Amino acid sequence: MHNKTIADLAKGLRSGEFSSVELTQAFLDRIKRHQYLNAYITVTDESALQAAKAADLRLASGDAELLTGIPIAQKDIFCTQGVKTTCGSKMLDNFIAPYNATVVDKLNHAGAVMLGKLNMDEFAMGSSNETSFYGPVRNPWNTDSVPGGSSGGSGAAVAARLAVCATGTDTGGSIRQPAALCGITGLKPTYGRVSRYGMIAYASSLDQGGPMTRSAEDAAIMLQAMAGFDEKDSTSVDCPVPDYRSGLNNSLEGLKIGLPKEFFGEGLNSDVAGVLEAAISEYRRLGAEIKEISMPNLKLAIPAYYVIAPAECSANLSRFDGVRFGYRCDSPVDLTDLYTRSRGEGFGKEVKRRILMGTYALSAGYYDAYYIKAQKVRRLISEDFKNALSEVDVIMGPVTPTTAFGIGEKIGNPIEMYLSDIYTIAINLAGVPAMSIPAGFTGGKPVGLQIIGNYFAEDRLLNIAHRYQQVTDWHLQIPNGFE
Ligand code: GLN
Repeated sequence: MHNKTIADLAKGLRSGEFSSVELTQAFLDRIKRHQYLNAYITVTDESALQAAKAADLRLASGDAELLTGIPIAQKDIFCTQGVKTTCGSKMLDNFIAPYNATVVDKLNHAGAVMLGKLNMDEFAMGSSNETSFYGPVRNPWNTDSVPGGSSGGSGAAVAARLAVCATGTDTGGSIRQPAALCGITGLKPTYGRVSRYGMIAYASSLDQGGPMTRSAEDAAIMLQAMAGFDEKDSTSVDCPVPDYRSGLNNSLEGLKIGLPKEFFGEGLNSDVAGVLEAAISEYRRLGAEIKEISMPNLKLAIPAYYVIAPAECSANLSRFDGVRFGYRCDSPVDLTDLYTRSRGEGFGKEVKRRILMGTYALSAGYYDAYYIKAQKVRRLISEDFKNALSEVDVIMGPVTPTTAFGIGEKIGNPIEMYLSDIYTIAINLAGVPAMSIPAGFTGGKPVGLQIIGNYFAEDRLLNIAHRYQQVTDWHLQIPNGFE
């Protein structure tokens, strides 16, 4: 059962081949068996089985949706009423949210069964899941390697079949990068497509939640349930949500794919490049036209992002002060001591580094030199996407420069870690949607292909991903030991 997609499981649930309770129990057993992956921070066995029972009743009554009775898991950045929400931090180790994030509410209403909360980099800052207070997650394809970050628990859980699908969030690549390194399908929607209400903020102008699944069809089903206007999120966009499944099989004849030469130059591992070339040839066979394009400002994405994201995070994380939210130190002597020790003890090293960088960039003497400059660069990057996407329908490229690297390999060198975001970050600065789909392997580790589209073109991206998955089987591969 655990190897089936949402679409297949929905059929099995309807025909009575198995119940949601049986399905949920099977996943709970797998989670227990594969605990060493460290994919989950919290497993909600009891409430999962209760939700599964309710789903079985709903299935029997005939008013079920496609997600009804499907075991899923939530990244631990989404607030869940009555269930601990840690954001991967000691700061929130004891935090129980009094309400659900909109995404959680929507998936619950669809009848999805939440198995638990998934491990992640602390406050979603990281590219390897090694900054989590709860320890690193292991990549099911090679358990000495990282799963990518920050949604590393989501990537590992879906690849290892410890959940049928999962939520992720992506500020600079955190859905696409773990999807690529774990060999699954991940979609970062257009900024504003999915509500951020109840999703703990990292960098609010970049953060976006989305689905992490085993196939494009499953991503369509999950996004359908997650997307839509939410009056509780002032940046959520009020435009209709299309039927994401209806166009999955549309022809790719005449599709114009742009390959930015800046994406295929120095820095890209040659074996990864080889896998991507083969994937692009497959698209040629499906009727697409390939065109080389240039996006000259892409090289500025990392420096701009690593000013803007820390600046926003330094403001967002000021609420964790031991009074309003979060960990409080033992026996403070006065208010300053309370603030400094609570924050000093509650946050990890990378989070502190970001707060320091952000506070510096926003301070009076440096604001124009760093923050305003970075905002101007952001505008130039958006223009690059606008120009490119007026010439071609979609842009393709790598997701990561290499396959999954070893646990411990880059954590001591922040700059090297930041460079692993080189192909994903610009997309968030522009706000356009992008996917990562499994495109092959090198050295036994998965490689992701990135597909980037115009604002609100998620349906087109899903169609392009689905057609590829109809003629390839990379997305069906199962890591050894997780069959
Ligand atoms: N790796 C990037 C960072 O650390 C992106 C993280 C994310 O998308 N949440 O900021």
